[in-house]
Amino acid sequence: MCIAAPEKHLQYVHQMSDNWRVFVVLSVCLLLANSTLIIYWFRNRWHNHPISRALQAHVQPPHSNWGSVASSINTEFRRIDKFATGAPGARVIITDSWVLKVTTYHVYVAAQSDCHVTVTECRQHQLSPDSASPIQLLTLRVHSINPAVRPFDIRLNSTEYAELREKVHAPIRNSANVVIHQTISELFLETFRAHVDLNQPYSLPSGQEVEPCIGCMQVSANTKLVRLCHGDGADIEPECEQCFCRPMWCLSCLGRWFASRQDQQRPETWLSSRVPCPTCRAKFCILDVCVIH
Ligand SMILES: [Zn+2]
Ligand SMILES: [Zn+2]
Ligand SMILES: [Zn+2]
Repeated sequence: MCIAAPEKHLQYVHQMSDNWRVFVVLSVCLLLANSTLIIYWFRNRWHNHPISRALQAHVQPPHSNWGSVASSINTEFRRIDKFATGAPGARVIITDSWVLKVTTYHVYVAAQSDCHVTVTECRQHQLSPDSASPIQLLTLRVHSINPAVRPFDIRLNSTEYAELREKVHAPIRNSANVVIHQTISELFLETFRAHVDLNQPYSLPSGQEVEPCIGCMQVSANTKLVRLCHGDGADIEPECEQCFCRPMWCLSCLGRWFASRQDQQRPETWLSSRVPCPTCRAKFCILDVCVIH
């Protein structure tokens, strides 16, 4: 310090300028505070360390001390059948008897036998030109009957939900009535609907009746394929053809058909692909799907 800036007189505290004195005093205080905190954690063989405290909440038979809880977690963590997901800053790990969430500054631990899980929120991210596949992110809250364990949230992709259910023995409640889309095709239906809503609607010629959808027979057919995509300058799609079929399919059935005719390994191509009309085989793209009004 004194070699780099001799003119600042940093050898002696009483020769320094006031700003430097404040800086040095603060640095020393910070160092002392850190050391005190570490000594406090270290007392009684790390008895006060936050991770050790989180583990102490689970000291009950068969575990006699937090070291025994830690070794149980260690053993199960090494098994290959554990469930693990999430980014490094919010990793979720579920072993045979433990639910863990490891964040940058905290480790949350809940015993499977004590906890119950609630699906509280879902966020849907549509398939778009810049995302490879549509995703649905679920937030699950882990509550423990152990009063020393605070509830915590875990987040995962809906396609991992089935695997999580297999690993969690605790009941999982769906409080928010969240519709969980566990496959990429189900997720795609939401995207399909959102994109079709942007297309112009189709008005039925007067006197024409709509019939039930021939795919599900549950709702009335509400889609019509109209070749709208041609002549859009650079977006010209010469391969689309005009379909002359009367409305026969509902939007969900047409969306499922559209998804089923795609390369299942490459969902990022789905929006821009053409598939044949399920009835007459004329090629259409997502821009050509109109909802009947
Ligand atoms: Zn249908
Ligand atoms: Zn057709
Ligand atoms: Zn088209």
